[in-house]
Amino acid sequence: MIYCRTPLGTVVLLNPASAYVIAAILCVIVGTYIIAIWRKMSFTAATVIANIIIFIIYMAPGNEEIIKDVFYNLGFNNSAFETGEGWWGLFTHMYIHANFLHVFFNMFIFFIMGIHFEDRVGFKWMAIVYWGTGIIGAGIINGYITLPDVVIGIGASGAISGVLGAFAIMYPRDRVPMVIIFIILPRVPVALGALVFILFETFMSFAQISFPGLGNVSHTAHLAGAAVGVVFGFIMMKKGVEAPKPGAKLGRKLDSLDYSPLGELAYHPANKERYEALLKEDIPEVKEVLLEDLVSRLRCPDCSSILTLKGTTVRCEGCAWKADLRKGRAG
Ligand SMILES: [Zn+2]
Repeated sequence: MIYCRTPLGTVVLLNPASAYVIAAILCVIVGTYIIAIWRKMSFTAATVIANIIIFIIYMAPGNEEIIKDVFYNLGFNNSAFETGEGWWGLFTHMYIHANFLHVFFNMFIFFIMGIHFEDRVGFKWMAIVYWGTGIIGAGIINGYITLPDVVIGIGASGAISGVLGAFAIMYPRDRVPMVIIFIILPRVPVALGALVFILFETFMSFAQISFPGLGNVSHTAHLAGAAVGVVFGFIMMKKGVEAPKPGAKLGRKLDSLDYSPLGELAYHPANKERYEALLKEDIPEVKEVLLEDLVSRLRCPDCSSILTLKGTTVRCEGCAWKADLRKGRAG
């Protein structure tokens, strides 16, 4: 046993190498989402990739002690309610899986359903639902209701159930592929899939109470995750959450610019018309083309050379004249 002091508290390790494995796992979680935002990847794809890489990291050494260290330190141990330690497990438990089938089925189901939901609500809300339902449902609520038994929860299924719950409330008629006991149904309404899932999980939860030996899958965590997902779904509907439209960012940028320096140069009637059309245009992609077209037709007020648009600045090819459209100033 090794006691390792970390900024988050003391960690007990069976194998000293586990410290590096745990550090690598945390780097993968953070790094994958940074790369996803940078490369405009979906939250769903990033989460699937992170889970697979993490699984390989702690399974590849083939060392039982390392695997136990990862489960005990990154899973959510509900004794945190008594000891007040290991709260980070509320977040990290979603990235740890027991075996190959566990990670494979979780990620497969999450991917085929998650990409559709993320299409509807966008990256930011997908992340809020996934992390929110995983932390609150599978972590806090399930951890609390399983007391006084000490349970270490691992796996993404609580968060995935949360996504299903929110999806079923917000877009019940959307059709997604669904897996019902090893059978893949290609186009099932989300509401029907969620209903079958919840009935099955409820049955299994009661079956586990009657027959405690019935597997170590936490069906109550699935139900808690789905229930919190339903609450998230109602809140998001009330807020009118929708995925940002593809041109939204470009539109905001173009709307924030001050085109008056171009207006002063557009004295020719045809250019004046083009300038008026640019100001009136609402579709971001069209507005961008109109802007480029107008700039290419205007001439420098100082030397009559052609003008070019670079970012938000209009420059003269012949002299130092330029106009910054963000400030609406020429000079
Ligand atoms: Zn010039």
